[in-house]
Amino acid sequence: MSEFDAGDIIDGRYRVLHRLGAGGMADVYLARDQQLDRDVALKLLHRRFAEDPGFVERFRREAQAAASLQHPNVVSVFDRGSFEGTYYIAMEYLPGRTLKQLIREDAPLEVDRAIDIAIQMLKAARFAHRRGVIHRDLKPHNVIIDDNDHVKVTDFGIARAGASDMTETGSIMGTAQYLSPEQAQGHSVSAPSDLYSIGIVLYEMLTGRVPFDGESPVSIALKHVSESPVPPGQINPEVPSALEQVVMWALNKDAGDRPTDADQFIMALEQVRDSLATPAIERTASMPAVSALPVPSAPASGYPHASVIPAAAAVGAYGGAATGNHAGSRLDRYDDERRDERRRRPLWPWLLALLVVVLLGGGGAAAYVLTRPQKALVPDVVGLQQASAQATLSNAGFTASVVRVTSNRSQGRVLSQSPHGSVRERAGSTIILNVSNGPGQATVPGVATLSEQAAKQQIKQSGLKVSEVKTEVSATVPQGEAVGTQPGSGASLTKGESVVLYMSAGLAMPNVVNDNLGEAQAALSQFSNAQKTVQQTTTTASPGTVIAQSPAAGQPLTRGQVITLTVAKAPDTVRVPRVVGDTPSQAVQTLTAAGLIPSQVRATTHNPNMVGLIFKQFPTSTSVVKRGTVVTVSIGQAPASSTTTQTGTTPGPTTTT
Ligand code: ATP
Ligand code: MG
Repeated sequence: MSEFDAGDIIDGRYRVLHRLGAGGMADVYLARDQQLDRDVALKLLHRRFAEDPGFVERFRREAQAAASLQHPNVVSVFDRGSFEGTYYIAMEYLPGRTLKQLIREDAPLEVDRAIDIAIQMLKAARFAHRRGVIHRDLKPHNVIIDDNDHVKVTDFGIARAGASDMTETGSIMGTAQYLSPEQAQGHSVSAPSDLYSIGIVLYEMLTGRVPFDGESPVSIALKHVSESPVPPGQINPEVPSALEQVVMWALNKDAGDRPTDADQFIMALEQVRDSLATPAIERTASMPAVSALPVPSAPASGYPHASVIPAAAAVGAYGGAATGNHAGSRLDRYDDERRDERRRRPLWPWLLALLVVVLLGGGGAAAYVLTRPQKALVPDVVGLQQASAQATLSNAGFTASVVRVTSNRSQGRVLSQSPHGSVRERAGSTIILNVSNGPGQATVPGVATLSEQAAKQQIKQSGLKVSEVKTEVSATVPQGEAVGTQPGSGASLTKGESVVLYMSAGLAMPNVVNDNLGEAQAALSQFSNAQKTVQQTTTTASPGTVIAQSPAAGQPLTRGQVITLTVAKAPDTVRVPRVVGDTPSQAVQTLTAAGLIPSQVRATTHNPNMVGLIFKQFPTSTSVVKRGTVVTVSIGQAPASSTTTQTGTTPGPTTTT
């Protein structure tokens, strides 16, 4: 179905390398820009859209708007043009995964991480919204994320297939799950429509599923308009209630009840994140006394009042504050840096201070202002290493008190401070620093004989990752089951570190050489393979031992493969043992054991010592004869005194045993 192949040159400039993916409207290829010698992602509009002049006009106009967006969280658009009756956009190529893939593999995400990704999406949206560009199709498929969780949003402002194109195709289905109620009804879109979509993405990151799903785009659209989402905390108990409230705030049906702009949404998320960094007990214990809190001065040096109220309301209830609030347009006057600085400050000192002012009444407040102790500006040390943060604070006349928190950030890094930087505080007062203790330790779990999926799950649950899955043959673990990990089970690693998972590529032939045949056969029977034995005559191995095997040890074994064992066999000839001087019964035993047949005769001996013993044998010892040869032994008899000496052999009774 790919319209272009590797090697095709698009518009005389872009050489197609391969296809990256396809969506509802376009195919995306990795291509080489031969003019600038760099890789680009080339998005080519499907022809059925290229044939609609109205659609093409919007595509061109809006791609132009998108091309002007240069922001670290927005994919850069380099170029656009037409080619063979269709249209294309050349954009920055991003090798990472889409957020959809990440959710599929890792969701539910850790709260910190989900917030961090949502904030980056919101920064992209804030930047575009201020320039009059609404995304309209924010969904995890349009977010590409690298290994360091850096987020870039694609497809800003690009014309979308409308409700009339809501066919049953997967990509439109995908879109429907993230559409705001106003879009689902075909009403006009505004910045809060994008915020709703980001709310859905955040919900999905936290719970692993979208709040509204269904059989068809239309049934999903209907749910956006009329159903309430299940609060995310009911699906994932890890979601703190303050965060749940922010998500539900963004998912209000009425655009006017959501955060007015991306900025407000970011502020609310940052507050939740700040509150996560400090363990609750520490927070209460070390909260500065009310009298030490700064008194709110003119709005220019603190929050614009308008934005204080909806953010506070958001944390209190996810109903609808924020109506008729124009903080967004007012905020446009402030540059980004000052905004970031302001946003790091918490709301509670202001709210508490406001309470103080109200309680004391006008006169009391004035007295307080006149008698307040000497104050100094608190340095902002968030992001510094603990030692330099402490030095900076002490140089400014403050004392630091450190609270250690488990976090994915590097150990020793200051995650947050209280009171925040840039407020005025009594000289000598204590600034609480939340310092990362690193992610903590994890023990590599045992995974032997688990399936790949179960092994991965087990490793993930221990707080570790799988960097690579390798296969190897195993002497004991059948194919498809895990053999183990590297580092092995029981090893202690830093949380978030990776292990290599080894899966069995099948059984490997064990070594049975030098085993006796019975043992070898028993050991191999568990492989239930066909076995064959071959005898080989040898004098160097004791008969019945295995002297060779095929396949060799360590080779893979397939089921039903024939195993051939070569077994030592004694030679057919034997060397005759010496039995002269033995008793007849000893001689019979020795010869029989050697595979020979003894035959006894009685004969006269003149040696009195040999009477009753074997004094002669034939064949003689050390001669080599066939197995089963008769060996005749002569049992000595004293000469008869009255008769003449007998010579030769007198056949006596022949005993064979
Ligand atoms: P829709 O058509 O509704 O936008 P979609 O976002 O899934 O759906 P496309 O935007 O056409 O579809 O993108 C298709 C795929 O191409 C994406 O899922 C992504 O994997 C890949 N892709 C898109 N843009 C880039 C890029 N800049 N760099 C790398 N890959 C990209
Ligand atoms: Mg896309």
